[in-house]
Amino acid sequence: MPKLTPLEDDAYSAAHDGVHRTVLEILRAHFGPTAVVQQQIGDYTGLTKSVPASNLAAVAAASLTADHARTQAGQWVRAARAEGTSWTQLATALRFNDDQDGDLAELAFETVAGKPEPLEKKSITWDCGTCGAAVIDYGPYERNPQDDEKGHTEDCARHQAAIADYDAATGQ
Ligand SMILES: [Zn+2]
Repeated sequence: MPKLTPLEDDAYSAAHDGVHRTVLEILRAHFGPTAVVQQQIGDYTGLTKSVPASNLAAVAAASLTADHARTQAGQWVRAARAEGTSWTQLATALRFNDDQDGDLAELAFETVAGKPEPLEKKSITWDCGTCGAAVIDYGPYERNPQDDEKGHTEDCARHQAAIADYDAATGQ
């Protein structure tokens, strides 16, 4: 897995610059070229930087960017689950760590599916990369793959391996 956790400095600055560029692009696309203006850097440098003409419009553009980042992360989470990535691995990629209260794998699931009310079950769906079947993923709550993932074919090698691991871990 690419090492984005803890975030390396170059990934951090790429994210910062990318979001700044995206916000300015949104403003230009929506309001036209005057939505971005040049601001002088310091008093005597003669250098300028591109900044939003309206801070209020920039807030809206940054918020829209954050919404799309979350949506796209959710799509990649589903694709990663289809490939066989665990919720624990996804928790690391989603930058959850031991500072958070609660089970990290469950927090990763709830990022995409939402937090279930007591007695409620949330789910997401993806097509299993191994057996090709549409799987309903109820998150990592039960720890038993037969309860947490419904829809794999009887002979799905990935699902059978997960069940064997669970049985070995629980002494069944
Ligand atoms: Zn399967």
